[in-house]
Amino acid sequence: MRSLDIAVVGTGTAGSASALFLARAGHRVTVYERVPDPQPVGAGIMLQPTGMAVLAALGLCDEVVARGAVLQHLVAETPSGRRVLDLSYADLAADLYGVGLHRGVLFESLFRAVKQEPGVTVKLGFDIEDLFIDHAGHWLVEAKTARRFGPHDLVVVCNGARSSLRDDTSHAKTVRRYPWGALWAVVPDVEHRYRERLFQVVRGTRVLIGLLPTGLGPTGTTPLVSLFYSLRGDRLDAFHAGDFAQWKAGVRADAPAAAPVLEQLHTHADLLFSEYHDVVMWPWNVGRVVYLGDSAHAMSPQLGQGANLALVDAAMLAQSFEGAESVDDALFRYSRGRRTHLGWYQFVTRWLTPFFQSDLLPLGVARDLLFGAVCKVPLFRSEMVAMMAGISLGPFRRLALEARPRALR
Ligand SMILES: Cc1cc2nc3c(=O)[nH]c(=O)nc-3n(C[C@H](O)[C@H](O)[C@H](O)COP(=O)(O)OP(=O)(O)OC[C@H]3O[C@@H](n4cnc5c(N)ncnc54)[C@H](O)[C@@H]3O)c2cc1C
Repeated sequence: MRSLDIAVVGTGTAGSASALFLARAGHRVTVYERVPDPQPVGAGIMLQPTGMAVLAALGLCDEVVARGAVLQHLVAETPSGRRVLDLSYADLAADLYGVGLHRGVLFESLFRAVKQEPGVTVKLGFDIEDLFIDHAGHWLVEAKTARRFGPHDLVVVCNGARSSLRDDTSHAKTVRRYPWGALWAVVPDVEHRYRERLFQVVRGTRVLIGLLPTGLGPTGTTPLVSLFYSLRGDRLDAFHAGDFAQWKAGVRADAPAAAPVLEQLHTHADLLFSEYHDVVMWPWNVGRVVYLGDSAHAMSPQLGQGANLALVDAAMLAQSFEGAESVDDALFRYSRGRRTHLGWYQFVTRWLTPFFQSDLLPLGVARDLLFGAVCKVPLFRSEMVAMMAGISLGPFRRLALEARPRALR
């Protein structure tokens, strides 16, 4: 196929990774990013073997993993110490692991590579609010000035869960905001207490506290740890109006392991709140527009997959162009090729989230009674670990470990 003029909207995980893959495949790429001076900010995230495989294909895995914290286990328990989840990557393969990472590390590594990539032009401070199509191609319309940019042969929309560009095409889609989100903070772990595992404490379905080793962050040499605290979005104002010391005492009572983190939190403002979205659309392409990452399939971060799925999207989009007869053919192959993997993760996430974050209290009881027992059955345990590692394609179906992104075809 001839070299295309491609617009990528957004320089988050999906946008930067797809710009790199497409430029390296010989296309001319322009990345439009709303933020004038993007910074390496954000919560701790889990990088999974799938995400690492994509970063390795981009030549970025080693530098990212070097600033992360290796994770061997996911453990969730009740305040009384009853195990609800106890999963180890090693149950699947001895050399398999996850990485706790500051989101800024992933951003910075990808963004630096994008800025250095010869085939990519980065336009910062461009808030793209509309798509416009005429005989010449696809145009992007900037919000403030109403200026048009283009024409482009292909538009890759990667502008996150709140994308307004979904409304500019004829897609059938649903975009729903979860009632629950999470407060989070990233603080130094000077004594390096938090290692090797994502540790969660659950009480009913209304209390979920997470402690994630987060590596070194974008700068510095002190290990970091992230605290997550589940909260309904409509209780955020009450949280801010409440007594902070009392809130800390409650968290400490449920999760004594969080005490060293809580000591470093002094006001409500030390915690940020993130909400989650559930975005469903299919196919992810219409005309010469394709949606990747959270703009295409945002989900609750219960399974820790969003950034990893965005990376796999980017790799798969570029692979879909290999040997394709036309742009339409490539985009059709992309949507078809991603359907099983993404559909399965969306289904399980939607099903699982209320067991951990909802007002459906009986689900918490069922979870405490059943999940721990299920984890002990080797067959189910390895299914759950495959799910955690990002390689599950459905019940007892997985990606080959040694060929993750390519095997998705
Ligand atoms: C609390 C929390 C914990 C999480 N934990 C994990 C985890 O453990 N593992 C994991 O894999 N994922 C996790 N995620 C999800 C993960 O962060 C997202 O899935 C991932 O960042 C999506 O990447 P993206 O590139 O699609 O979108 P984003 O990262 O949101 O990037 C979108 C980009 O588009 C830009 N943009 C937006 N609008 C416009 C516009 N109009 N014009 C131009 N540019 C625009 C934005 O500025 C941004 O740079 C978590 C999320 C949350 C909230």
